[in-house]
Amino acid sequence: MSSVDDLLAVQHEDTTADQIRHRLANLPERVTLETALGERRTNESDRDVLRLERLELDRRQKRAEADVEAVASRIQELDDRLYGSGISSPREAREIQEEVERLKPRQEDLEERVLEVFEEIDPVDGRLGELDARAEAGDATIAAARAALALIEAGLGDDLAQAEERRHVAASEVPADVLGRYEGLRGMFGASTVVQFDGSDCRGCPSAMPAVEVDRVKHLEEGSLTDCTECGRLVVR
Ligand SMILES: [Zn+2]
Repeated sequence: MSSVDDLLAVQHEDTTADQIRHRLANLPERVTLETALGERRTNESDRDVLRLERLELDRRQKRAEADVEAVASRIQELDDRLYGSGISSPREAREIQEEVERLKPRQEDLEERVLEVFEEIDPVDGRLGELDARAEAGDATIAAARAALALIEAGLGDDLAQAEERRHVAASEVPADVLGRYEGLRGMFGASTVVQFDGSDCRGCPSAMPAVEVDRVKHLEEGSLTDCTECGRLVVR
């Protein structure tokens, strides 16, 4: 293999490596993973909001139950006095009875409030259950997406390492000054930094090679390297 072939091999491996890096940077598997992570974050914040709501309902439920309990025990206390032996007068008995009568509707109201809180809790618990299930499914999706991404990244990583190794081997056969010229031009011309002379034209030139230039290249030794004075690429005669 001539050093020109080695230079073309270097260019080929550089192009291959760039393509692999481009693929690595634009993997659909990463998009899938990021989408799943985004959905989990949304789900988590929805869950946080609902959990706070649920805590507040819990507090309201306990408060309402404590109110019911307080009224019930007051009624119980009054009943005990009424049917106990400590009543001193019919007036006192009447007063106690009146208080019990006042407390009864209050007790019913409070019991109604407990039921209302329960009714509010029901849909919140249902929604929390849905979000829990969604979180579980989301975690499974994330795990699968991570595994798929790791697999493809490992495969492409191996491909890249091999391309870099082949490039290293080929580059060691290319004279340092030629390699330097190639590397200096590659930023501008990429995969077509080194081009073939096709007998009448530089394949890299956007327009036709001037006749004088064609003539000059034609007279070079086959397989030798020259600069195209028209486009600036490296041309293989
Ligand atoms: Zn050219």
